[in-house]
Amino acid sequence: MAGRSITILGATGSIGLSTLDVIRRHPGRFSVYALTAGTRAEELAVLCREFRPKVAVMADGQAAQKLAELLSDLPDISVRSGESGLCEVAAAPQACTIMAAIVGAAGLAPTLAAVRAGKRVLLANKEALVMSGKLFMDAVSASGAELLPIDSEHNAIFQCLPADKVRDPDGAGITRILLTASGGPFREHSGESLRSVTPAEACAHPNWSMGQKISVDSATLMNKGLELIEACWLFNMTPDRIEVHVHPESIIHSMVEYADGSVLAQLGSPDMRTPIANGLAWPERIDAGVAPLDLFSIGRFRFERPDLLRFPCLRLAAEAFEAGGTAPAVLNAANEIAVAEFLKGNLAFTDIPIVIEKTLAATPVVPADSFDIIFAKNSEARQQAREQIALLTV
Ligand code: NAD
Ligand code: MG
Repeated sequence: MAGRSITILGATGSIGLSTLDVIRRHPGRFSVYALTAGTRAEELAVLCREFRPKVAVMADGQAAQKLAELLSDLPDISVRSGESGLCEVAAAPQACTIMAAIVGAAGLAPTLAAVRAGKRVLLANKEALVMSGKLFMDAVSASGAELLPIDSEHNAIFQCLPADKVRDPDGAGITRILLTASGGPFREHSGESLRSVTPAEACAHPNWSMGQKISVDSATLMNKGLELIEACWLFNMTPDRIEVHVHPESIIHSMVEYADGSVLAQLGSPDMRTPIANGLAWPERIDAGVAPLDLFSIGRFRFERPDLLRFPCLRLAAEAFEAGGTAPAVLNAANEIAVAEFLKGNLAFTDIPIVIEKTLAATPVVPADSFDIIFAKNSEARQQAREQIALLTV
């Protein structure tokens, strides 16, 4: 097998497809060991025909049967299923780099399996880190896994930090992280008009093309809340030293401020192939297929403070991080349930933060002493969020 061998968890998603697009441009440098998906067997089958992985995994059992039928003429591809299949390929010795791009809490177990196996883990699945925080970072330290951030903001911050002081802000002389946010599609909407926005409007992000869940998170600013928590863990920062800057052009992907007044920024077109290529090739640089930045056509950069009254999710995330223990896992679980119901048309956009706040209030915080506790709280909070939605919608 030629080149660095990669497994992509969540290959059929927005990040998965962008990763495969970068890999496609460098046939000698990368090869694909395993591809995984949730339920869409046909889409994974098409990718398997092109990239010829050794293993293909569907999280869903029936979808795995379907995939096996679709690939019956390719007996060299072993088809597996379920969370055990995902964890197996995440930890398999045949791949050295794992792209963790499953959406939501479903990504925690396989991403953790990759971490525990000491892989280079390209972390897109921010929910896994938000849920388990210190436990996750301790697992990274214990195994010696190489954790590289793919979220565009965190990849930007990573690029603006000295490579040997990524988790040592004081040693590096860092005063603040300036975390940028597009503001989402409803940045200029009045609080009142937000109640009636539709899933289609929420998913029509002005600058980025992404999966549905993160698109809604961007519209509520929960995405920035999750990213605030993600940045605290990745870079060993406290939230009071991270300031969210709404930057509607989405060209500056974040900044790091140093004690001498210098502010380093990473710029680029809003295209996830840039951070993905950075993680795949790090510390080298490779072509990502991204068009050169044309600053003349962009013209100017704007910066605004986030409006926490219209977008309370950012405040809720900061409070959950402050509360500590299992609170971020509960926040994440409640958000996943609320967003799924909003996407189905069963919940108003402005009820998303209400469901999260009520779920947090109804779910006692306990110390996050083990992954078992995190998984249990995740289930409990999902149930609690469903009950809160039922109460809101009667
Ligand atoms: P997506 O919805 O487009 O894709 C999700 C992938 O996960 C799909 O391959 C799907 O089959 C798989 N999946 C879904 N549920 C699963 C389950 N229960 N078990 C196993 N696999 C399952 O999502 P996306 O936009 O690509 O985002 C993926 C992750 O990357 C998210 O955590 C998101 O926050 C993060 N991220 C995405 C972007 C982006 O531009 N899309 C940017 C930054 C971070
Ligand atoms: Mg981001």
